[in-house]
Amino acid sequence: MAYDDLSPEFLSAFPDYDGHETVRKIVDADTGLTAFIGVHNRALGPALGGCRMYPYAGGEADAIRDVLRLSRGMTYKNALAGLPLGGGKSVILGDPFTQKTPALMRAMGRAVQSLEGHYITAEDSGTSEADMQEMGSETSYVVGLHLPQGDTSALGGNPSPVTAYGVYMGIKAAVRRKHNTDSVAGLHVVVQGLGSVGYALCEYLHRDGASLTVTDTRPSILDRAVAEMPGTKVVTPDQIFAVEGDIFAPCALGAQINDETVPQLRVGIVAGAANNQLATKQHDDMLADRGILYVPDYVINAGGVIAVAYEYFARTGRNPFTAPLTRDVMMDHVTGIGRTIDKILALAETQGLPPGRAADRMAESIFMAEKIRA
Ligand code: NAD
Repeated sequence: MAYDDLSPEFLSAFPDYDGHETVRKIVDADTGLTAFIGVHNRALGPALGGCRMYPYAGGEADAIRDVLRLSRGMTYKNALAGLPLGGGKSVILGDPFTQKTPALMRAMGRAVQSLEGHYITAEDSGTSEADMQEMGSETSYVVGLHLPQGDTSALGGNPSPVTAYGVYMGIKAAVRRKHNTDSVAGLHVVVQGLGSVGYALCEYLHRDGASLTVTDTRPSILDRAVAEMPGTKVVTPDQIFAVEGDIFAPCALGAQINDETVPQLRVGIVAGAANNQLATKQHDDMLADRGILYVPDYVINAGGVIAVAYEYFARTGRNPFTAPLTRDVMMDHVTGIGRTIDKILALAETQGLPPGRAADRMAESIFMAEKIRA
């Protein structure tokens, strides 16, 4: 296995380079592994972020762009999630359906281990819990390992239900700001994507008396939603943006807030689970100009990273918090997403900034105040 840390001179040619601490290229001829690990900033602690496997059409340059952008994003996300963790991410070049092997994932585990704890990896698109288990045979710097059968009180396991709870808390914060009430009862929420997070979010909202209009590309999940949450309306994926309602919750894909969709929106709030909801930073301004309150995606969807961070601290016996590392304490931490969003939306208003930029400033004020620890 060969490692090569890319030089700042080389990385400076990439617009997403932001003085990243380490960008390591890994090549393992025996297993066919080519990967990059990006550590953006460890001011708050070791860098935590997922491992993505993707068949990058543009080859290594595309993969480097992605690892630079994603690892930087994790620094901001972990800072505002109140975690003593920095930002990192890794990418494996290849098709996860045809090119992934247990040996390749174990090689990736050795690559993670080579950073000696500066980077902690987790599941991401193209990787699974089983892949984390494989990596775990080579490194202890991995999270998202399965729970003992049937144990729902322990830390670990699928983070999606925790993400959904955090999104629900974030929606309540936006509603507080816009409608001066904590309750979503009687509000109409328009949800794009009923996957692991979107469906669980709908269940919270439905239970609280919100009405729902939903879409998905999978008819079976739509049938289930209508059966289990009476009164739920269904529209086609292209109709979802123009549905009149109170809140639009993107819970499927990135870049759904774009030049084409912003003019269609007939809601007062955009708040959902999807990553990278804004096609560009200008769409933060476009939403604000239309009087639509945008809840920054990386803040509202941090429940999952909070869950895996607690799992990591519990497993390594290193508790950075004053409270014990239990599932209840972790869920209280996720409830705090609502309070963070309260602060961001207040800052946005007082400083006349769109919320996305207000969140970035708040995150920078946290991690830039710290010196590198490790
Ligand atoms: P998922 O794959 O379980 O669900 C996505 C759903 O969107 C699926 O039901 C899919 O059929 C549907 N979909 C796909 N294309 C669509 C389209 N064009 N229109 C409507 N629906 C469409 O994913 P998930 O885990 O629920 O995550 C949802 C989003 O939240 C993703 O953007 C993900 O990156 C983000 N996110 C997830 C977590 C987590 O803990 N799972 C954490 C942070 C962020």
